[in-house]
Amino acid sequence: MTMKRVLITGAAGFLGSHLCDRFIKEGYHVTGMDNLITGDLHNIEHLFNLENFQFYHHDVSKFVHVPGELHYILHFASPASPIDYLKIPIQTLKVGSLGTHNLLGLALAKKARILVASTSEVYGDPQVHPQNEDYWGNVNPVGPRGVYDEAKRFQEAMTMAYHTYHNLETRIVRIFNTYGPRMRLNDGRVLPAFIGQALRGEDLTAFGDGSQTRSFCYVDDLIEGIYRLLLSDYAQPVNIGNPDEITIKDFAEEIIKLTGTTQKIIYKELPTDDPKQRKPDITRAIDLLGWEPKVSREEGLKITYDYFRSLPKEKLEENPYGRAFARR
Ligand code: UDP
Repeated sequence: MTMKRVLITGAAGFLGSHLCDRFIKEGYHVTGMDNLITGDLHNIEHLFNLENFQFYHHDVSKFVHVPGELHYILHFASPASPIDYLKIPIQTLKVGSLGTHNLLGLALAKKARILVASTSEVYGDPQVHPQNEDYWGNVNPVGPRGVYDEAKRFQEAMTMAYHTYHNLETRIVRIFNTYGPRMRLNDGRVLPAFIGQALRGEDLTAFGDGSQTRSFCYVDDLIEGIYRLLLSDYAQPVNIGNPDEITIKDFAEEIIKLTGTTQKIIYKELPTDDPKQRKPDITRAIDLLGWEPKVSREEGLKITYDYFRSLPKEKLEENPYGRAFARR
């Protein structure tokens, strides 16, 4: 039997790199692609000496060419933290829209099945709780998160259009907050922010009064859900996330306990349009894929903390608000 070939965009990122590992483990030939604006080659360095891995340094917002056969495409290229998309709003819009269009075109040309990474951000600041896939969302198109949320909503619409008009095999995963090793310590997200602060001996910055909620999924669980969805025959969106909901204040307390820091929680202004509550309804994933998360927050946080602790000191000191991005 010939080896199945998969293209993974955003391969050097947090989720992309874990997907590369998973598909290599399953015996696929993996082509990784990344423009390295927010990705980091360290995440996939261990794959470069493998025969069944290759890497293209390329921006998928521009025409994408991959020679030879492709059976699957997973589109995971995108800035994904509020700080990143505030810094690089145009690239964020382009990779979700133009990038998705290019990859749908590539999938059609190669007769490949494509799975696109969508997000709980399509629900915006939700008025339905928990969020199921039939909820249409409450998104501010012109707010700071609009560049990400609307790009992802366009991505879903475009993907569905290729499915219905061209009969392309498509999959849409709506990813809720996910954490684990290889998250960028300085991406501004709440978990690396809190752990970084604890490791540097700073106070933990909860935004607003800390009463907003999130539900955090450990990366291995998420990858399993995505793998099952890709191999399923279901083209409608599927939520993948962990429904174990917690307030940001309680989350900060958990990090204080985990790290043993003697620092306290301080409160800062709540960013514009910050969703007040978020929790996936995963009934569809359970019914269709027989999938549900297995790793508790206690277990997952411990592994993630050990990862952050093992990073070189320079990484810890990088200021998330000071990172320079190339303009393209
Ligand atoms: N947050 C916080 N302190 C921080 C960073 C984030 O309290 O230093 C809050 C943020 O306001 C949001 C939640 O944590 O309510 C999750 O933020 P994150 O950026 O991780 O992801 P989001 O789910 O908002 O996309």
